[in-house]
Amino acid sequence: MSFDYDLFVIGGGSGGVRAARVAAADTVSKVGMAEESRYGGTCVIRGCVPKKLMVFASTYAPAMKQAAAYGWDVQAVGFDWSAFRVKLEGELDRLEAVYRRLLKNSGVETYDMRATVAGPNTVRLADGRELTAKTILVATGGWPTVPKVPGAEHAITSNEIFHLEALPKRMLILGGGYIACEFAGILNGLGVDTYLWYRGTQVLRGFDGEARDVISKGMQERGVTIVTETNIAQIDKVADGVQVTDTQGAVHDFDLVMYATGRAPNSSGLGLEALGVGLDRAGAVEVDSYSQTAVPSIYAIGDVTNRVNLTPVAIREGMAFVETAMKGNPTPVDHALIPSAVFTQPEYGTIGLSEEEARAQEVIEVYATTFRPMNTSFINDPHEVLMKLVVSQASRKVLGCHIVADGAGEMIQMAGIAVKMGATKEDFDRVCAVHPTMSEELVTMKSPVRTA
Ligand code: NDP
Repeated sequence: MSFDYDLFVIGGGSGGVRAARVAAADTVSKVGMAEESRYGGTCVIRGCVPKKLMVFASTYAPAMKQAAAYGWDVQAVGFDWSAFRVKLEGELDRLEAVYRRLLKNSGVETYDMRATVAGPNTVRLADGRELTAKTILVATGGWPTVPKVPGAEHAITSNEIFHLEALPKRMLILGGGYIACEFAGILNGLGVDTYLWYRGTQVLRGFDGEARDVISKGMQERGVTIVTETNIAQIDKVADGVQVTDTQGAVHDFDLVMYATGRAPNSSGLGLEALGVGLDRAGAVEVDSYSQTAVPSIYAIGDVTNRVNLTPVAIREGMAFVETAMKGNPTPVDHALIPSAVFTQPEYGTIGLSEEEARAQEVIEVYATTFRPMNTSFINDPHEVLMKLVVSQASRKVLGCHIVADGAGEMIQMAGIAVKMGATKEDFDRVCAVHPTMSEELVTMKSPVRTA
């Protein structure tokens, strides 16, 4: 049987674009792709990239205060959001054009519209055309979810935060995950009076407890008001903003509210269930370790599968898919020991197990130090950093590494190589310190602070 395409990819985000491009360039495959929004997906258009640029923008005000404390004659007189937004939008346009060019140059045929799955080997485009493909790859990503609360329609999500006409003066962010904590730091740094409400007792649930405490304290020292064990009961629109009723019944005035209460796989309405592709309770497409669904010709990668929802993971899943399905070289995706960063202020870099997870697994030794680093203690800045290793007492392997400090994302990328290689505490100790740095503590901590 002949098909219009060897591979048709639905979704032009990081994972989908990489898979389509590599399949078209490295094999003799004819590849098609449909994208209903903008090429680049969440990461490039409404996630990692614009977020990180906003993080950069937000760090100049504190940097200028520090510069003044060091003796520079500087004063931050204000931030021009409109000027920044124009530059930001220009950069996203540039990156989207790069993605389009990469696809075109590798020979991928693109359709700028929604596509759904009409059969094991058929996709239906929004304009009614049907195209056949030997293999279909679903890479449709995820989308922010907003709880059903009266007035929730008056709030925004992270999708809209990049397009604001003006920055609010006073803002509420709901949630205690990656997005809530990152944007609380960004908006606070940009001069917004920022409140973060979280329903639990400490933000960043699931991460190392000690790291969460240092991050939360650091965020508050920098100016974010964190209120825990609180949720939004109701939002009412008023002339100059919104009135938010909390779950204790108190009413608060804000200019803007943002929900950062999680993301759901973008799987509904794609026609997958009707074909026998399994979706779990969260809507994630069920796949095996080769990203193959219950329908052999249909694969899925990235956030729509809700495995590890990070851009580099989606890209790796895309590459492994190409090896498996397009090159006949079955390649499972390795989801173990993935380093990651949360771009909070202070920043968090982490790999492996939290102290709590490791303790539940075996006897561990914890090597940790919290201190004021040289550059900020010099100017009596109270901010503390954390360097922490969670070590197996039996194997001596470093099971987890946790860094809370400026540049933690950069540091954990390097430390991650050692941890992924199975380095022991003694391997870390054998490495000479780089002095004076913050991360030298990772190779100079002599005695465990506790054994558990
Ligand atoms: P998360 O799942 O990280 O956090 C969701 C937060 O919302 C949690 O604090 C959760 O509370 C809270 N929440 C959920 N439902 C409700 C509700 N009904 N009422 C009140 N609070 C609620 O999701 P995010 O949206 O922050 O991020 C989505 C994903 O995107 C992340 O998991 C990550 O994979 C990815 N991401 C990665 C980044 C990075 O690598 N730096 C940056 C941004 C996103 P509770 O803890 O109690 O469940």
